[in-house]
Amino acid sequence: MNTSGLIRALYDLIYPSVCPVCDRVTSRFAADICPDCQRRLSFVGRSYCMTCGKPVDEADEYCADCKGRRHIYDEGRSLLVYDEYASASVYRFKYRGRREYAACYARLMHERLERKIRSWDPDVMIPVPVHKSRLKKRGYNQAALIADELAKRTGIPVDKGLILRKVATGAQKNLSAAERQKNLKKAFIATGNVVKYRTVLIVDDIYTTGATMDALAAVLKDAGVRKVYFVTLCIGRGI
Ligand SMILES: [Zn+2]
Ligand SMILES: [Zn+2]
Repeated sequence: MNTSGLIRALYDLIYPSVCPVCDRVTSRFAADICPDCQRRLSFVGRSYCMTCGKPVDEADEYCADCKGRRHIYDEGRSLLVYDEYASASVYRFKYRGRREYAACYARLMHERLERKIRSWDPDVMIPVPVHKSRLKKRGYNQAALIADELAKRTGIPVDKGLILRKVATGAQKNLSAAERQKNLKKAFIATGNVVKYRTVLIVDDIYTTGATMDALAAVLKDAGVRKVYFVTLCIGRGI
């Protein structure tokens, strides 16, 4: 073991990592996720929609959603299928203060999506902002935590102040795609000079219908950004 390995090992002894899947101290020394737990996760495989990255049948190039309409963002990829393990983990990450999961999430995202991210060559990462009232209540923006951890690994800077969430949109879960879009249309506002960026990578925890990504991409493109991509931790199987 080299010096940095030793320091890491000592650090782990004092501050052991909590596994984002089982929420227990990781079973293996110096690991951020239990090997068994990692095997339980459904990683997006080789057959995915060329636009949104959702898993599709091998013969399909696009998912049903992207076949039917154009998105405002250009392209995106996600690490995990939003199944029961992913949803339970993300719930604790968002609502139970498990900020530390971000490091493991970002490591896995970086391992599997780095090549794609590099090919997009983004100038900046923008985490999907939350409304300040929600930020106050929760204490952190989960998307920003992931973006910060990704920045450590990729060197791509994060800009958290550029886009503001204007209105508290409330729970989007029970709304239809059209309702979400309408609701979100006025939700984001650019506060500064967006034009300095040509290519933006949006970072979030979940991609569901793409309404959030499109709303944010619309604001960015209106302000002069040419290309808008996204990475998320999870993606829903379908709408
Ligand atoms: Zn575990
Ligand atoms: Zn798609």
